[in-house]
Amino acid sequence: MKTFNALLTSAAGSVPLEAHFHGNALVAGDGDGDGGVDVARIVVSVGGMEQPELFLNWLDAQGRQVTLKPLSADDIATVLRDAPPSLQPSLQKLWNERLHNRRQVSGWLAGLTGAALLAGGLLWWQGNNAIGAVAGLIPLSTEKQLGELALAQVRTQGSLTGNGAAQQTVQEIGQRLTAGSRYQYRWFVKQDDSINAFAMPGGIIVVHTGLLRQAGSPGELAGVLAHEVQHVEQRHSLRQMITSLGWGALMAVTIGDISGVAAMLAHQAGTMYFSRDMEEEADRLGVQALQRARIRPDGMLTFFQKLGEENQAQAPGWISSHPQTAARVRRITALIEATPCPACQPLDSNHWQAMKAALPPADKK
Ligand SMILES: [Zn+2]
Repeated sequence: MKTFNALLTSAAGSVPLEAHFHGNALVAGDGDGDGGVDVARIVVSVGGMEQPELFLNWLDAQGRQVTLKPLSADDIATVLRDAPPSLQPSLQKLWNERLHNRRQVSGWLAGLTGAALLAGGLLWWQGNNAIGAVAGLIPLSTEKQLGELALAQVRTQGSLTGNGAAQQTVQEIGQRLTAGSRYQYRWFVKQDDSINAFAMPGGIIVVHTGLLRQAGSPGELAGVLAHEVQHVEQRHSLRQMITSLGWGALMAVTIGDISGVAAMLAHQAGTMYFSRDMEEEADRLGVQALQRARIRPDGMLTFFQKLGEENQAQAPGWISSHPQTAARVRRITALIEATPCPACQPLDSNHWQAMKAALPPADKK
C-alpha cells in the first residue's frame, strides 16, 4: 500500500491530503475511520490544459460531488498502478486513450473551415486563451448536450422544479428577455436558500428560491435574469466549462464519450466564476436586453446594491461570484444614464404575489 498526495475537493472546500487504496476502497486522509470510498462508486475523468490531470469523482452521502485529484505525475502513476482491479479498466481506458483523443480533437478541428484551423493552431500555442475562439465553433447541438449533462448532475444535488408559481414567474420574465434568441431557454427553480442563480450552456437557467425571496420586485429579478442570460448568449458558460474541465470536456462531447465528464460537470455548474471582462459584458448587454424588452433596467442596479449592503459577508453564491464593487455599480449607473429609454416601464408580473406566497419558509440559521 503506497500513499499518494492529492487534493480533495468537496462541499467543504479543498484540502491537500495523502490517500491510498485499501482493498476495494479509496481512503482519503485518515478516511474518518469509515474504511474509505468503495471504488465501485468512483467515476474517473481526465482533463487539464497544461498537463494531463486525473480526477476520481464520487457523490457523498448527501449526493454532493467530491473530487480527488492526484497532485503530481508520480502520484498519478501510483494511482494507475495501485488502484484495485475493478477500477483499472476505466482508469486505463481514459488515461491511455488521452493522447489518442487529443489527436481526435485536432482531427475534428482540421475538419472544419480555415477559421477553425487557425483557432486550432492558436489553441495549441495559447492554451486557455484560445478556448474562446474554439468555443465559437462548437455546434449548438454539442453545447446543448453539455448543458443537458450539467443539468442532469444539478438535478442529483437537489430538487429542481420546472413548474409552479416561482418557475412561471422566472419563465415569464425570462422569455421577454430572450425573444428572438437562437437558444431555446429552459427555466428552473431550485429549492435552495442561498442567494444564487446560474446559467448553463445551451440556455438552461437555474434560480434559487433564496434569490427569489431576496428580490424585491419583478424588475430586480429581471435584472438578474438579464445578466445570467448573457452568460449563455455570449457563450461564457460554455467557455468556462471547457476551460476548467480542460480537454476532457471538449474531447468527450466531440467524440460522444461523455461518461467521464458528466460527474465533473456537477461541481462546475453552480459554482462557475467568470472573468471580470465577462461580467462586465453580461452587465452591459443585460442592460441592453432589458431596454429592448422595454423594461426599466434600474432593477439590476437596485438588486446589486441591496446585496452589497445587506449580504456582502454571506457566501457562497451569486454575491461571491458577483462582487458588488463600487466600480461596478458606477459603471451600470453610467450605462443606464447614457442610454435613456423613455419607452421602458417598471416591470409587472402576474405571478409575483403568488410566487412570493408560495416560497418555502427560510431555513433558520
Ligand atoms: Zn455573472
